[in-house]
Amino acid sequence: MAEVRITGLHKRYGAFHAVRGIDLDIRDGEFTVLVGPSGCGKSTLLRTIAGLEESSEGTIEIGGEVVNDFRPRDRDVAMVFQDYALYPHMNVAKNIGFGLKARKMPKSEVEARVAEAARMLGITPLLGRFPRQLSGGQRQRVAIGRAIVRSPRIFLFDEPLSNLDAQLRDEMRGEIKRLHQDIATTMIYVTHDQIEAMTLADRIVLMRDGMIEQQGAPLELFERPASTFVAGFLGSPRMSFLPGTLKLDGSAAAIRLSEALLPVAPGRSLNGAVDGQAVLLGLRPEHLTRAHAATPAQGTFRYDATIDLLQPTGSRSYATFRLAGAPVMAELQAHDVSRPGERLPIDINMNRASIFDAKTERAI
Ligand code: ATP
Repeated sequence: MAEVRITGLHKRYGAFHAVRGIDLDIRDGEFTVLVGPSGCGKSTLLRTIAGLEESSEGTIEIGGEVVNDFRPRDRDVAMVFQDYALYPHMNVAKNIGFGLKARKMPKSEVEARVAEAARMLGITPLLGRFPRQLSGGQRQRVAIGRAIVRSPRIFLFDEPLSNLDAQLRDEMRGEIKRLHQDIATTMIYVTHDQIEAMTLADRIVLMRDGMIEQQGAPLELFERPASTFVAGFLGSPRMSFLPGTLKLDGSAAAIRLSEALLPVAPGRSLNGAVDGQAVLLGLRPEHLTRAHAATPAQGTFRYDATIDLLQPTGSRSYATFRLAGAPVMAELQAHDVSRPGERLPIDINMNRASIFDAKTERAI
């Protein structure tokens, strides 16, 4: 078993506190993505799990064993880096098999494992080439192959796709996901890219300033973000945030945005909310559609919008308009809107809206 348990972990670089109290349980076979803005401490956390950094406080257990004092090579983890870290003077087969050879594995077994890894990654024809003769995507496959042959208990990935162009990144992302489906080994993956986090993860751990802001299944974070920080980080284009006031009247609740009164979905819990509370209403572009029905559906607020910016993507158009003075973006079908300046009835699905306290920016 290769579950990982991190308890009370801190990492300081001199006076700088990079990781500030992380508690994290990762199940055996789970794909966990550590995500967050640059400098939030995700690489430091990963490198501490690998043993490349020493923790300042706290424990790291792998498979039920405290590994704080283990050297990296004794932790039975394999790490794949952004810059591939291949040996330039060795061909692909030698690069992949190097770690096994260093561990004195018999030659025939090294060859068998290299051949199997190359088959899984579709790089068998490249085994005789040198790194300089490979494309970026091929190099990254070799780096992953080098990790696979060791059959580690855990794979650690540090932004492995950052150096690839957009198309190759999409392709390799799919391959890494497939690899996880095939071998079901615990994987911990660092990225600052929210699309990678959403598409790869069984569980996202979203970090901010050396701490965990929220963790959970991708859709849980996406649909029920704990804060404006999480809501703004996941989802592209970003969620719009509109300042307003909460109106509580018996069991009915609504949000006042200047002259507009938007109903809060009936039955929605409004933990600790009070009448008159300053809030931010969070609307994702996909919560807004062009109105086609004569009357709005239950829980929908209809607004007569004047589009002031249009960004077509082909099948969709992102249309920005102002609601009570604040910009809001709607994701419309391309044929639903033709030009900036157009007036359109827009339906806002309040059943899916997020509400945050304006001061704490935490979800209500
Ligand atoms: P990025 O996406 O930019 O790589 P990250 O979330 O992975 O960011 P880390 O690399 O973990 O961030 O760095 C966290 C903080 O710790 C940063 O402010 C960084 O400058 C600092 N830091 C990292 N390594 C060292 C070091 N060796 N000495 C001093 N400070 C460091």
